[in-house]
Amino acid sequence: MTARLSGRELAAGIRAEVAAAAAELAAAGTPPRLAVLVATADESSSWYVRSIARAAAETGVVCSVVDLGESATPDRIRAELAALSRDPAVHGIILQTPLPADAVFEDLAAAIDPAKDVDGANPLSLGRLAAGLPAFAPATAAAVLALLDHHGIPLSGAHAVVVGRSTVVGKPVAHLLLQRDATVTVCHSRTKELAEVTGSADVLVVAVGRPGLVTAEHVAEGAVVIDVGTNPTPDGGLVGDVDAGSVSGRVAGLTPVPGGVGPVTTALLLHQTIQAARS
Ligand code: NAP
Repeated sequence: MTARLSGRELAAGIRAEVAAAAAELAAAGTPPRLAVLVATADESSSWYVRSIARAAAETGVVCSVVDLGESATPDRIRAELAALSRDPAVHGIILQTPLPADAVFEDLAAAIDPAKDVDGANPLSLGRLAAGLPAFAPATAAAVLALLDHHGIPLSGAHAVVVGRSTVVGKPVAHLLLQRDATVTVCHSRTKELAEVTGSADVLVVAVGRPGLVTAEHVAEGAVVIDVGTNPTPDGGLVGDVDAGSVSGRVAGLTPVPGGVGPVTTALLLHQTIQAARS
């Protein structure tokens, strides 16, 4: 029997907290504001930005989308991030990906004031996270931990395997799991015998971007699997990296896609914006 580890109820609870806090902040004269900087015409990116803007509107967080267009230069993007960082009316800043080909995400994100870096994009934030210092974690990584906690999955001493080592998901998830005393293994495209490594996980987090990468042969019986992958399907839907039909019945719990990590990520972005507005 595989439990469906939904993120929807958790996300609704976080959004309710955000709405109450946003109303208080607005009444005190500081409406919380999130700025999303976009420099792409990518359709899945605009879908994601629209979903952030919708969730923000529903919770009373002001969301400004700053669209510089796909031909924006790295200097232009950096200057805009610096201006938003100086603007006292802006509390949270997100640098949306993808970026123009000549732009390096981590390099540009360094221009985001760490106090407003609500998606943990500035390399300083990841460094502080790795050092165990207070910092905003990338919202997706924080969402993975929040989901595990919400569903009561024990982490101390557990073997957690993370597949994917990006700076936005894999690496910060690994640091957060380490902070919670899990024994952590990180896998990537050069990992040998992936199924053998993932098959030894009590908790498996998959953040790759390849539909169907993880099947029954990659998971131990009774493992908990968090599927971070979001892969668009030709019919306009979304699938994860885990073949849910294949692992179902073997693992103890699996997050659905959509409805697992995604809604919690969006809710936590707004929650981190509230924290930034309060500080
Ligand atoms: P990314 O930057 O492309 O990183 C993908 C990682 O997967 C890399 O570390 C890569 O290894 C590894 N990889 C690729 N092929 C592999 C294979 N065959 N076996 C093992 N590892 C492999 O992607 P990302 O930004 O981390 O995103 C990962 C997925 O999460 C995507 O589907 C994305 O859409 C999704 N996502 C979801 C949310 C959400 O809120 N739900 C948020 C962000 C991202 P190398 O380092 O060796 O190349």
